[in-house]
Amino acid sequence: MFVGQKVADSAVDRTPTAPVSDVTHLTGTVAVSANSILDALPYGVVCFDVLENGDVVIAGANPQAKSLFDIQSTQLLPVSLARVWSEGDLEKLSEVIRLAHSRRQPQSLEWIKTRDSHEHYLTSHLKPVFKDAGDGYQVLCTIEDHTAEKLAEKNIMHHAFHDALTGQPNRVLFRNKLEETVINGQRSDEPFGCAVLVVNIDRFQQINESFGHSAGDRFLISMASTLRRCIGSSDILARLSGDEFAILVPDMHEIDSVIETSDRIHEAMRQPYDLDGNEVFTSVSIGVASTISSATHPEDLIRDADFAMHRAKLAGKARTEVYRRDSHQVARSQFHLETELRRAVEREELQLFYQPIIDVRTSELRGFEALTRWRHKDHGMVSPVEFIQLAEETGIIVPLGRWAFEAACTCLKHWEMEVGKDKLVPVNVNVSGVQFARDNVADIVEAALEKYNLPGHLLRVELTESSIMANPERISESLNKIRALGVKVALDDFGTGYSSLNYLHQFPIDIIKIDRVFINQLERGNTQHKILDMIGMLARSLGHEVVAEGLEDTDHIAMVTEMGFAFAQGFYYSAPVSSFEASDMVRGNLPWS
Ligand code: C2E
Ligand code: MG
Ligand code: MG
Repeated sequence: MFVGQKVADSAVDRTPTAPVSDVTHLTGTVAVSANSILDALPYGVVCFDVLENGDVVIAGANPQAKSLFDIQSTQLLPVSLARVWSEGDLEKLSEVIRLAHSRRQPQSLEWIKTRDSHEHYLTSHLKPVFKDAGDGYQVLCTIEDHTAEKLAEKNIMHHAFHDALTGQPNRVLFRNKLEETVINGQRSDEPFGCAVLVVNIDRFQQINESFGHSAGDRFLISMASTLRRCIGSSDILARLSGDEFAILVPDMHEIDSVIETSDRIHEAMRQPYDLDGNEVFTSVSIGVASTISSATHPEDLIRDADFAMHRAKLAGKARTEVYRRDSHQVARSQFHLETELRRAVEREELQLFYQPIIDVRTSELRGFEALTRWRHKDHGMVSPVEFIQLAEETGIIVPLGRWAFEAACTCLKHWEMEVGKDKLVPVNVNVSGVQFARDNVADIVEAALEKYNLPGHLLRVELTESSIMANPERISESLNKIRALGVKVALDDFGTGYSSLNYLHQFPIDIIKIDRVFINQLERGNTQHKILDMIGMLARSLGHEVVAEGLEDTDHIAMVTEMGFAFAQGFYYSAPVSSFEASDMVRGNLPWS
């Protein structure tokens, strides 16, 4: 780009009022002065002198270079470089100028200069040139300003590593920072510990649905600044996904300090957030994993913190859970069990057992309660106590519940073929509250009765008081439909839940089943005895049948009979039995009489 050593040398403006140089350069047929070429250049050109004492002076500069070095147009040159510029990469530049000068070799340099509090990213090529007068060398330096490209590049990088909404680091950057922290920590001789907190907003979906997505966005932005206020200056906050943030505590000495951070977050969340004039209250669930409690691989730390966060949600939200290896193992085995149970329903490894319900005065068979068993290939018969809760938590209860009605009807049909319609007794099927909430139980019952061509009175539905209380309106509506099919409804486990006699008349039920825990504690004249007496009277006045569960001995039978309860169920008569044994009972072979 330079037009020759001599030209460049003489063409650099040596004084503010220098006359246009008489040195010209011919481009084609038009004669152009070297000075006007230099003025027109899009980059700075400076001529540096290096004095004997090593000081660097600016001997000449074109306008671009002058403005970069803040040299006034009235300023006389030469001027010491240190006088016009005293900060940033000055030393670096001076050094390279001296090098080019002493070694007589071209040099290149990338450097940064701050002007008006903006950083300028510059590239320079330095070339020693022979002075006109022959008395030594000067250094000719070009200065290209790459600030615009650099900023564009920075911008692109920022977007690749930051969340556009909150401006916080994204998952990629968070992971990189975490990796860097772990690697540096492991290399250092000092004891090292770091922690990851995963913070998930509870019920964020509701905010989005109630106030719209732009309000949800504003909420997330404010959430980010709330979190920033709660964390330490060296901690890193990132937004991992929709309503999930993560915090890296890079130098953790003890887990307590991390818990304090999470406490500060919970405390801050107690303040209402003003969303378009509406006070919104939310909470967060936080999971913590540290290099003490978890593996040290960055990906594992994030996964474990996430796992702990889900535990916090399950435990009721608005809390912090610290990851523990053993709880993960429990979850893994639960996951295994869940997969197995799902398969068990599909492959029909489940089976109904039947426990007879007896008329206590006549000892006649009056019905059966169907109780699910799981024939597990390794564990044998698994009790429903082991898997009903898991089935409810995972939703498997829905197909399981449907299957139970089918299986009970199939069995009734078999008995019908064996003993005829007249001798058939009803079968009670247990229905979980979760199934009532997720499935249309009335439709399922109706479809099963239709499919097997059975009258409604041969099926009964058992549900617990607590499952009714979870959603009284919806369940009552469903129960009314079920009763309209001629199917009776039994309130199961009475005496263990709310046990409020007030509710008894409000629910659409036909039968009350007294829980065996109640029967177990029964002694003549004790509180249980008195309460049970009252329940019996109330039930009779409301027209409900009462079944006493868990009768194990003759004492129980005697007390229950005295109190006028008509029906009983318990090991005294029979434990739950297979459908084959049950059909024997239907045929009239009753082991208890
Ligand atoms: P539940 O409905 O109250 O069933 C009575 C439970 O008491 C049965 O336990 C039965 O075996 C047991 N039992 C009966 N008589 C006696 C006795 O004299 N002494 C003692 N100690 N126990 C007695 P099981 O079969 O283990 O069932 C437990 C619970 O699991 C049932 O309680 C029921 O709530 C639930 N369940 C069973 N099958 C199903 C099902 O298909 N669906 C749903 N949702 N729940 C079911
Ligand atoms: Mg039951
Ligand atoms: Mg019961």
